[in-house]
Order: sequence, then structure tokens, then C-alpha cells
Amino acid sequence: MEKSNGLRVVLFPLPIQGCINPMFQLAKILHSRGFSITVIHTRFNAPKASNHHLYTFSEIPDGLSEAEASTQDVTLLLTLLNRSCEAPFRDCLTKLLRSSEEEKQRISCLIDDAGWIFTQPLAQSLNLPRLVTNTYKVSFFVGHFVIPKLRRERYLPLQEQDEPAEEFPPLKKKDLLQILDGETEVLNSYSDMILQTTKASSGLIFVSSCEELDQESLSQARKDYQIPIFAIGPSHIYFPGSSSSLFTVDETCIQWLDKQEDNSVIYVSFGSVVNISESELLEIAWGLRKSDQPFLWVVRVGMVNGTKWIEAIPEKLMDRLEEKGKIVKWAPQQDVLKHRATGGFLTHNGWNSTVESVCEGVPMICVPSVWDQLLNARFVSDVWMVGLHLEGRIERNKIERVVRKLLLEPDGEVIRERMKLLAEKVGRSVKQNGSAYRSLERLVDHISSF
Ligand code: UDP
Repeated sequence: MEKSNGLRVVLFPLPIQGCINPMFQLAKILHSRGFSITVIHTRFNAPKASNHHLYTFSEIPDGLSEAEASTQDVTLLLTLLNRSCEAPFRDCLTKLLRSSEEEKQRISCLIDDAGWIFTQPLAQSLNLPRLVTNTYKVSFFVGHFVIPKLRRERYLPLQEQDEPAEEFPPLKKKDLLQILDGETEVLNSYSDMILQTTKASSGLIFVSSCEELDQESLSQARKDYQIPIFAIGPSHIYFPGSSSSLFTVDETCIQWLDKQEDNSVIYVSFGSVVNISESELLEIAWGLRKSDQPFLWVVRVGMVNGTKWIEAIPEKLMDRLEEKGKIVKWAPQQDVLKHRATGGFLTHNGWNSTVESVCEGVPMICVPSVWDQLLNARFVSDVWMVGLHLEGRIERNKIERVVRKLLLEPDGEVIRERMKLLAEKVGRSVKQNGSAYRSLERLVDHISSF
């Protein structure tokens, strides 16, 4: 840490892995610039305070029942959390402000995720500036507010599903239908509130994007929102390593990768939230085996609907899988992507995973299933052309073909070369005078000015 600048920042991450990681990256960055850090967090998915001994932690009750805490519906989960956390958060923040006055260390601002919708009026009532973080690709954040309107208008293109969706480029009509299909009514008012409270905030920080990945949407957002906007990412590059993991990391992945040849391994992971069916598990297992390429596959405990882990894979197939690959419950993903042996990433295209893959120059096989994943996947496959898109249902023959194409065929080599160029471009953004670096400097000045 640089010498303390006498200012404290309060962070309040949404308790999901894809938001916790970038928030802790931001914490590391701000701490290295002299800010003291307090993290307010829910009991649900509480970050491991022992991994972050330089920060102060305050836990608030979240009121979730066991059943609510295990829901697969992220929008529902976030709506419930917003309802039950408001009062305890207010108490906690008020206490912090009071004690900061006594200790004569000023709290300069609150930084929390756009998905917390009660914090803006609350911060305002306490005269505390609030900055909003967002972990989506900028183009998804800016574009997704059209979704409630499309739902109200009952968007339903029955034909031409492969055509571009003009309402939300570069999605195809079928992607947009899938997004609309997966979301519930609850989303409409939640989305509206996110937009309103973001526009009322003192600034918007995109923690995982930069001009090189999102230039047009950033210009659009600057026009639409009239608040300072910072694109400081991919922020994981400033301080590599994911010490904010909610899961136990299986470090044996790296020793296993050490034994594999350069660019030979397909890494398979669907992030921290996506669930799959037993039959999809088996299709992936068969597809990987039939591709005959080494693979490292993350299957989270509880990820396969109706079973505990990978019991649905028959013993004989399991023996054949073990000849070629390794299945783990959670991997050190950034290190895996950095490893010379990793040649491709079969991913659900969560934005963090997508950016991490871009930064390491690892071409992707896109298997998006919900929400922003569909847009991220279109950027990867159709705009940047640094990956292959596995369209439609997950089937073993498709997986076999696409893995072999990416790892063994000339088409795969062209994609890899293109990805290398994109990685270099994005890598430059966080170097001194790069776009993300400059944005970060502006952010630090902005926070110091409150
Ligand atoms: N991740 C990890 N190990 C794994 C799988 C995922 O460390 O085995 C991390 C990954 O590096 C990323 C985050 O979990 O930072 C997942 O975020 P993403 O936005 O890709 O997907 P989400 O989990 O939000 O769907």
C-alpha cells in the first residue's frame, strides 16, 4: 500500500462469485493507492475475510431462508436480497459513518454493485457519494434495459431466428428470444430501478472492460447517463490471482497441466452459477472423450441438476475419461488460462471468464445459456472472431467436432492468431498510458475529490 491518504472507501459487493471477484480486485487497486477499505457483506456467500487481512469487514444479516439461498434464479435471489438487506445495511453504514467521525478518518464514498437498488437513496440521505460498479460487458449493461420493453411488446419473431436482432445488436433473434424466455416479470421493475439509481449516482465503474473491448457502448453510455464513467478493466490483470474464491480451489490442476503439451488442453468450465442436466453432462463427457484431446473440466458440486456431482457418468466411460483428462470441482481459472498447455476454453461466456480468456489469448468455444452470456458469446464468435459458437443443444458430436477444429485444424490456428492480437491490444490498455490505466487514474482522482 502507498502511504495512507486518510480516506476510507466502503465496498458492498453483490454476493455472487462473478461480482465478488471484480469488487475485490477494485479493493486491491484502491488499497494500493492509499485508501483504507471496509467491506460490508451479507452472511450469504460471505467472502473469506482471512484472505484479506488488510481490510475491515462488517457482516449484515440477509434474511434468506435455506431454500431461498439455494435458488437457481439469480434475479429472484437479488430481489430477495434487496428487500431484506436494506434495514441492516442502513444500520451498519450509519454506525460506520459515526465511528469514522470519532476516529477522524473520513469515509469518502460507498462503492457497490448496480444490482443493489436501495443503496442510492440511502447514501443520498446520508450525504455520502455512491459510485456504482458493474461487471457486465458495457454493451450488455447499456443495451439490456430494452428487455422489459420487448417483453411488454411480446417480442416474437417466429421466422428468421438466425437474423440479427436490430433491437439489441449483435444478438441474433434466437438469442433475444432465449433471454426473454429465461427471465421473469420480476425483472421489469428491477431493471428500471437499476437504471434510475445508476443515473442518480456519482459515477459508474466498469470493472471488467475497457475502450478496446467496448468503445461504442462507452460513448453511448457517456451520452445517455451524464455521470462520470470509468472503464478500468480488465482489473484482474493489476493483481493476478483469485484470492476471493468462494469455493475450495483444486491446485492439482496446475501440476496436471505441467505434464501436457503446449496448447493441447481444452479447459471446460461453466462458471459459478450455471447448472446443467444429467444428459448434458453425459453429452459433454462423450464429446470430450471422442475428441481425443486432453481436457480439464470443472464440474461444481451441485452443478448437475438432481445429482451431487458426477455420479451420472457410468464407470466405464469414467475410466476412459481419466485416460485423457481431469475433472475437478473448482479450478484456479486465471492460472489455468495462463498456462502454456491450455489451448482452448469451452465456456458459458460469463463476462469474467470471457475477459480472462481474452487477456490470456486463449480462443474459446462458446456455450452460452442465459442472459449476458448470449451477447458475450456473439462478440467472441461473430464480432472479434476469436472463438467458435456451439449453436443449439449440447450434443456429443458437435463438441467432438468443435474441439478438434479449434485445437487441431488450420481454422483453429487462424482464430488463435486473431485472439493473440486482441489479447495484446487489451493488455496494452492496463499499461501506463493505456485507456484502462488512464481511466483508473481519473477514478482515483474522482474518489479523492469527495
Ligand atoms: N472461476 C474460478 N474457477 C473455476 C470457475 C470459475 O476461479 O473453476 C472464476 C472465474 O475465473 C471467474 C468467475 O469464477 O472470475 C466466474 O465469473 P463469470 O462472470 O465468468 O461467470 P458467473 O460465475 O458469474 O456465471
